[in-house]
Order: sequence, then C-alpha cells, then structure tokens
Amino acid sequence: MSNPADSSRPARPSVAWIGLGIMGSPMSENLVKAGYHVTGFTLEKDKLDRLAEAGGTAAGSIAEAVRDADVVITMVPASPQVEAVAYGPDGILENARPGTLLIDMSSITPRTSVDLARAAGDKGIRVLDAPVSGGEAGAIEAVLSIMVGGDRADFDEAAPVFEALGRTVVLCGPHGSGQTVKAANQLIVAVNIQACAEAVVFLEKSGVDLRAALDVLNGGLAASTVLTRKKDNFLDRDFEPGFRIDLHHKDMGIVTDAARAVGAALPVGAVVAQLVASLRAQGDGGLDHSALLRAVERLSGERV
Ligand code: NAD
Repeated sequence: MSNPADSSRPARPSVAWIGLGIMGSPMSENLVKAGYHVTGFTLEKDKLDRLAEAGGTAAGSIAEAVRDADVVITMVPASPQVEAVAYGPDGILENARPGTLLIDMSSITPRTSVDLARAAGDKGIRVLDAPVSGGEAGAIEAVLSIMVGGDRADFDEAAPVFEALGRTVVLCGPHGSGQTVKAANQLIVAVNIQACAEAVVFLEKSGVDLRAALDVLNGGLAASTVLTRKKDNFLDRDFEPGFRIDLHHKDMGIVTDAARAVGAALPVGAVVAQLVASLRAQGDGGLDHSALLRAVERLSGERV
C-alpha cells in the first residue's frame, strides 16, 4: 500500500500472516500499523476477528490468505505445524505465487528450515528462517531480536518488514542458521530463568525482602532481561503465559538434539531440559516458563 503523503515511495508488499497466537497477533498488528495490507489465517476465530478489528483482513484458508501475497509470514508452534501449513494441496507452497518470499518466524529445528527452503525453491518460492526473541512484550512493543537464515538478497528485501517488528535484526548465515541461533537463545534463557528461580527460593527461605533483593541484583552483574521481564511473575506467582513451558520443552529438545549432532556438550542445559520436562509431566505445560520456580519450590519441599 503506498503512503498517500509520499506518492514516490514504492508500494509496500502485501503480506499473508499464518498463525495469530500470542506472538503472531501483536506482530501482524504492528505490520498493519506500519501501513502493510495484512491478510491472516489461524485456527481460532477470535484471533481472526482481532486482526480484522486492527485493520487487517481475515481469510478463510491458507490458500485464500497467500494467493495474492508478495510476502507470507508463518508464526506457528513447532516443526509439525510449519510442515502442515507449508506442504500439501492446501498449503503455502501449492497456493502462493512463484517469486513469493516466505518468512518462517516460528522456532523450529534447523533441519526443517533447510528442507523447507529446498522444497520451496523447487516452486520458485524464496524462504528465510527468522525466529525471534523478546517474548510477548517484545512482540507488542516491536522490539524483538530477529535471527535470520537465508540469502542476503532476500534478507535485504525483507528488511523493512523486520524493522516494523523488531529492533535487532541480524543475518546469521545460510538457511537454518537463524534457527540454530534461536536454539542457543532458548538455552541461555532457560538456564537464566532456572538460576533466577533458585535465587528466589534461596532468598525467600532466608527471610530476605525479595522485591528489594531482585531490584539490587538487577543493577549489578546478575542483571538480565529475564530478571527484568519476569520479576513480577516470580513475586506474584503469576504464571499466565507469556511463553509456555510446552514451547520451551520443544526448544530444549531442539537445542539438545542440534548440539549432539555437532558434538557440543551442554551439561547445564541438559539438566534444565529435564526440569522443564518434569514440570510439563506434572501438568504445568500451559504455564509461563517462569513457572520453573515451581519446580525449584517442589524440590525445596514446598507444596505448590
Ligand atoms: P501460540 O500457540 O500462541 O500460537 C500459535 C498459532 O499458530 C495459533 O494461533 C494457532 O491457531 C496457529 N496454528 C497452528 N497450527 C496452524 C495451522 N495448521 N494453520 C493455521 N494456523 C495454525 O504460540 P506463540 O506463543 O505465538 O509461539 C509461536 C512461535 O513463536 C513458536 O514457535 C514459539 O516457540 C515462538 N516464540 C514464542 C515466544 C513467546 O513468548 N510466546 C517468543 C519467541 C518465540
């Protein structure tokens, strides 16, 4: 859509957005705010209504959403869902025009991204893997970190779209590289949450004012975005997601598999992966990943 204030500007590409969940809804709305015409499809009707209210267009199917799109963005939970929306007669590859740029922003295995790029290439469709970090708040505020894998020319073409969604946007290498970097991100975040959770239980059992302690810790070398973003979750025991334990379990599987494939040892990551899996087995998979605090509390003898 061209900007009426500047008719010399090239028209913005039309965007199809598949997957309007916790992340996809605010991200697609940020593209609408930036002046893009966004047509969306997702499984929940209320999310389609939300996009329409924000100024986008709700589609009845993937085929309808992608048919006239220049750029297709997917933001679905994991590799099986990316494959489900991309492949088959009703999928993106069969229904998008040759020349379309497909940007998968889901966090999936690097292997799936490489395979998708190859299959799409056979149809004349270009692909970038572009997973994000920054959580729901980062999506709403359009300050995500976006780690990209693929060809430089496609990255350059997608730059204005990425700029409407995030603040730190980096081409990390060929197809799958964005996912590899995202896997490392999830390792760092999980270990960081676990360390914060252990500190919270230790501080509380020691009788220290937790709020004061977390404030001063976040001013020193122990500071982290995790502590800033998750402090209130810890203080209020508010585990409304956010980022679900189920999704972090998926990501810990991705990073442990990928590390094993290249011969990298992740001893602390492996322990935290087990703690995430255990929380999930105890029925906490739908909670925010700050609920790792519950695992530490249980290990410390609390009934939560
Ligand atoms: P979510 O479960 O809230 O949303 C996923 C959306 O995908 C849903 O709206 C669902 O309808 C849609 N979907 C699934 N299968 C579909 C299909 N076949 N056709 C159409 N739509 C389909 O998940 P989310 O939290 O938004 O996460 C999405 C991705 O982003 C995941 O890979 C996650 O790991 C990653 N991520 C999430 C966060 C976060 O804080 N939530 C942060 C960074 C990255």
